[in-house]
Amino acid sequence: MSRVKTRFAPSPTGYLHIGGFRTALYNYLFAKQNGGSFVLRIEDTDQTREVKGAVEALISTLQKIGLNWDEGPFADKTFKMTEKGQNGPYFQSKRAKIYREYAQKLVSSNKAYFCTCSAERLEQLRKEQEAKKLPPKYDGLCRENTQKPIGKFVIRLKVPTSGEVVFNDSIRGEIKISVNEIDDQVLIKSDGFPTYHLANVVDDHLMGITHVIRGEEWLPSTPKHILLYQGFGWNLPVFAHLPLLLNKDRSKLSKRQGDVATEDYLNKGYLPEAIINYVALLGWHPKDDRELFGLKQLVKEFDLKRVQKAGAIFDVEKLNWFNCEYLKKKSNKELAILAKRFLPRADEATLQKIVKVEKERINYLEEICERSQYFFNLPNYKQELLVFKKSDKETTLKSLKLILENLNKLREGKWKVKHLHKILEQMVKGNNLANGDVFWPARVAVSGLAKSPSPEEIMEVLGKTESLKRIQKAISVI
Ligand code: GLU
Repeated sequence: MSRVKTRFAPSPTGYLHIGGFRTALYNYLFAKQNGGSFVLRIEDTDQTREVKGAVEALISTLQKIGLNWDEGPFADKTFKMTEKGQNGPYFQSKRAKIYREYAQKLVSSNKAYFCTCSAERLEQLRKEQEAKKLPPKYDGLCRENTQKPIGKFVIRLKVPTSGEVVFNDSIRGEIKISVNEIDDQVLIKSDGFPTYHLANVVDDHLMGITHVIRGEEWLPSTPKHILLYQGFGWNLPVFAHLPLLLNKDRSKLSKRQGDVATEDYLNKGYLPEAIINYVALLGWHPKDDRELFGLKQLVKEFDLKRVQKAGAIFDVEKLNWFNCEYLKKKSNKELAILAKRFLPRADEATLQKIVKVEKERINYLEEICERSQYFFNLPNYKQELLVFKKSDKETTLKSLKLILENLNKLREGKWKVKHLHKILEQMVKGNNLANGDVFWPARVAVSGLAKSPSPEEIMEVLGKTESLKRIQKAISVI
């Protein structure tokens, strides 16, 4: 067999769906583990579905995640596009002439024909079939037209009148379908552009694609593709149709139940390695129970044969779990750099301190922004909040005064969680107080919140001056 070559062939209709990203990832993994190459091809022949900026968004998302392709369009920082590879152009909109040539070849070998039926006739036909409860299908009126007509026409595939299309899908096994169920598919539309079916097959062949790995929604189109390969006399690639992605309630993964755009997760500060790891497991499972895989490891261990047929559930909580695992692996310095865009005004040192306090408490980096507002501005809080539920106002005031007095003695250079904790602890013991009498008001005084990290952690980030200022304020409001 020739060298493995796979492709990701999205239609730029908006954003990169998580399912699309999984397709891209599996194609990448399979190509790389076989020492092959991976192609990005833009299927943009349906001008009516074209969305401005969609190609740029797609490329930038794949680049941010760190999935590299060997051939196809590439974008520089200013989004100037260049193409790399021997088999371009990689935008189908630039290949219309090629598809027309190949469609003509099929007509010449009696595998396709010109159809001049009007939209009205086809509509009439459809209505008649509907009334008879028949599936919609072209009736073959133009099947013998091999002369290029003057005026408007389409080119249709001449599906054989008897027999079966049989093929083997790597994931689903043998699939058989009677040709009677296949319509004489339009290959070239009246605007001269190809349909998906023709363009897809011609390109997969001309680009030397050996394995077509794509979503299950394309399975019904595959028999048409097989007829095209046969019509041209070309070898078939290996087909593998990936299981659907589902919401938790087992409906098809949709926007209504949460984010489905890969870029939304990146924008929220999910780490690319977490997205890759989780998405790799949507339909594929290793032999054992391991769950954490980096991209390189996935290249080694991914196995197309172990991809399941049943739909795979996309569960954002599981993605959160992976993201937390990867957040834990990062140093505070690395996280501070990544968190910068969510807290643009904080300096590097402050960011590192915030990240240290928050990293175990967040699912994704954007949460840091909301969670850490109190580091920058003390929120307004009600004075009652300062009093622990098992304490009283008087004790709280006494406590706050002691806190101020004792912490004031700690040198700036020693203003660290460890020392702060010791002082507060000693205060509890030495003054016959309860933990809640001291730690609760200390925490509320510096955070202004009912729930927050511990007072020592917050104070370390705030530094001595700001911490004492906030405690003083608490004393004055109570
Ligand atoms: N352009 C199709 C899509 O948007 C590609 C399907 C295929 O991979 O053949 O998903």
